[in-house]
Amino acid sequence: MTIAGEPPAPRKLKMKLEIRGVSKTFQSKRGILTAFEPIDLDIREGEFVCLLGPSGCGKSTLLNIIAGLDKPTRGEVRVDGRVITRAGTERVMIFQNAALFPWLNVFDNVKFGLNMIGVAKPERQVIARRYLQMVHLAEFERAFVHELSGGMKQRVAIARALALDPAILLMDEPFGALDAQTRDVLHDELQTIWANTRKTIVFVTHNVREAVVLGDRVIVLSARPARIKQEFGIDLPRPRQIESYAVVDRARAISALLKDDTRASQRDVAASVLQELEAQMVGDDVL
Ligand code: ADP
Ligand code: MG
Repeated sequence: MTIAGEPPAPRKLKMKLEIRGVSKTFQSKRGILTAFEPIDLDIREGEFVCLLGPSGCGKSTLLNIIAGLDKPTRGEVRVDGRVITRAGTERVMIFQNAALFPWLNVFDNVKFGLNMIGVAKPERQVIARRYLQMVHLAEFERAFVHELSGGMKQRVAIARALALDPAILLMDEPFGALDAQTRDVLHDELQTIWANTRKTIVFVTHNVREAVVLGDRVIVLSARPARIKQEFGIDLPRPRQIESYAVVDRARAISALLKDDTRASQRDVAASVLQELEAQMVGDDVL
């Protein structure tokens, strides 16, 4: 009850996703490997957040934990205030390789997940067609995966994910293997899809400009063991283009911050390759 004359209590900003003290260590042959130190991050409903960091810093691991495909060593992830313990259709992942079923055509690929969650056949067809239209593939519903370009495969993967109507889309470098022109088109399309569906999106990339084009917020992670180094709010008008002056300008400031970590990360990768080789040579009695 509100007492007359008293200002209403401030409403708490609605958080879709809360990452609380999440850390991850792996037990490897070379001992314990810390992917990232405790991370705290809140993501609002409908927000487009880009996680940006050098290769090997732990981006995919963090996304897998949010998806419920991996477990944190410490900490917890909450969706709508509830701690997640496993994967669920309200959080759908899109990978760099579209991971489509080669024996199914485009239409059946998009319908597959709907079938799994028990959506009736007529409804499956309506939903699949709606999202294939959204990604401009309506004319290709009978095509097979091997007949599609890389960009088309990713569009099918996006349609398949959207068909499940997840609240949160988790995207792990989804455009990383595409040529620059196709990637630019998909940046446009993803911005339109996001504007029309208002999904919460967590998008992982190591490409600074891509992060600036897409994100409301860019979270910069350090080299492994990753921690949040800095956050950047990106308030540029949309749709944004990767070559626009404003995007290039914002990206420049973020790149400077990343440079040292990229070097550290490359040293880390080189050191682990050498250690692996050494272990192998000792095993083979070469050393
Ligand atoms: P990114 O996606 O940022 O490139 P990853 O999350 O894939 O990085 O990996 C982070 C670090 O954790 C890397 O050093 C990687 O080798 C290590 N790692 C990832 N998964 C495993 C695993 N299952 N076992 C051991 N180490 C792993
Ligand atoms: Mg990765």
